[in-house]
Amino acid sequence: MIRNATAPGASPFAPAVRLPSSRYMISPQDALQCVLAVAACLDARVVPLDDACGLRLAEEVRADRAYPPFPRAMMDGYAVCVADAGRTAEVVGEVAAGQAAGPPVEEGKCAAIMTGAVCPPGTEAVVQKEHVRREGDLVQLPETIAVGGHIAAVGSECPAGSPVLKPGDTITPLAIAVMASFGMESVSVRPAASLAIITTGGELVSVGEAIQPHLIRDSNGPMLSALARRMGLDRPLAMHVEDRLNAILAALEQAAQRDVVLLTGGVSVGDYDLVPEALRQFGAEVLFHKVRQKPGKPLLLARRGRQLIFGLPGNPLACHLGFSRYVAAAIRVMQGLPPAPQPLEGRLTGPVSYRGSRTYFGLARAERMPAASNLWDVTPLCGVSSADLFATCRANCYIEVPAGVAEIPPSEIVRFTWIPGDPR
Ligand code: AMP
Ligand code: MG
Repeated sequence: MIRNATAPGASPFAPAVRLPSSRYMISPQDALQCVLAVAACLDARVVPLDDACGLRLAEEVRADRAYPPFPRAMMDGYAVCVADAGRTAEVVGEVAAGQAAGPPVEEGKCAAIMTGAVCPPGTEAVVQKEHVRREGDLVQLPETIAVGGHIAAVGSECPAGSPVLKPGDTITPLAIAVMASFGMESVSVRPAASLAIITTGGELVSVGEAIQPHLIRDSNGPMLSALARRMGLDRPLAMHVEDRLNAILAALEQAAQRDVVLLTGGVSVGDYDLVPEALRQFGAEVLFHKVRQKPGKPLLLARRGRQLIFGLPGNPLACHLGFSRYVAAAIRVMQGLPPAPQPLEGRLTGPVSYRGSRTYFGLARAERMPAASNLWDVTPLCGVSSADLFATCRANCYIEVPAGVAEIPPSEIVRFTWIPGDPR
């Protein structure tokens, strides 16, 4: 059975794909295409300028007036006429930054002026303070003075009404400065996606809770929260539930207003893997369940209205891959970004052995060695099992090994993708 992807307001990056049936295991490529097909750009929202940094602009930003709005002195010095070069001029006044108007300047007369002040009428140049000799009210001017020297003319930096930032631009601190200059107290943005994380499993306790020999600590919750926050999302709604249908359903209800819900654990075929059934009872449409990949085969994607719900396997590395490859792509699309950065190429520093019929996504560390080198050295970080979190904790990227490739020898060139938001 094949269904059409008909997400309202689907991403401009969404390819025309048909959603796979949830009954079949699908390829990692199809799974990603399915995510992109159903992820939709979030509606624009007006936020205070103070809350906008890191988000994407949803409006064009134009200059509210010419910049600079007045002929601005670029140096501390004297506002002069160029005909006075090599002569003395009388200092007839002083203009500080913020003063509306100074005394007019004409031949034989000048005004002391400060950086950022309005050049008085008649000013043809500003001569740096260090280049004149002053005695009382007279200054000896240099032999040559260039017309317009050290004056920023009206509109020379930005004419009135000119577009400076466009929709889709990332709002950086410099962009904030531009909008503050233009008097914008708020701005229309693509908001950060709101997220809920529901960890499932009776074996889990939170960091800080008393541990017992038969229990383990929840590491997926903190990891997913950190991944999301590094992508610029706000603190997620975090919940933990036992493997009970009603508990999972109650948590889903609580998260109903969130743009994205991540469930971890309970998504496979065990007797206590109740997430798929809970999603059905919740009224969510399961789009796929099981991807031909290692780690993380039981990955599940569902949607309910515009909400996307990911069922991530409990194995921490499978959970990490699920976020890095699929959830991150959805979040980027929701926020008006291209879904995934292009992979880079690097040279393997050690062999990668993998015998399997699924695509293998291996955590690795890419570094430039030496620092000035053009090529990345990529060191695979394989532990004793595909769930070995501890061997991989210095990873900053993934390498992808197609199914059927038994071994990639050292020195081979491989493609790698950064872990989302990785600061390297
Ligand atoms: P599950 O997907 O629920 O079958 O869990 C697979 C494995 O991941 C089991 O060994 C779980 O104990 C472990 N696991 C599940 N959830 C978490 C979590 N939140 N943090 C750390 N390990 C987990
Ligand atoms: Mg479980």
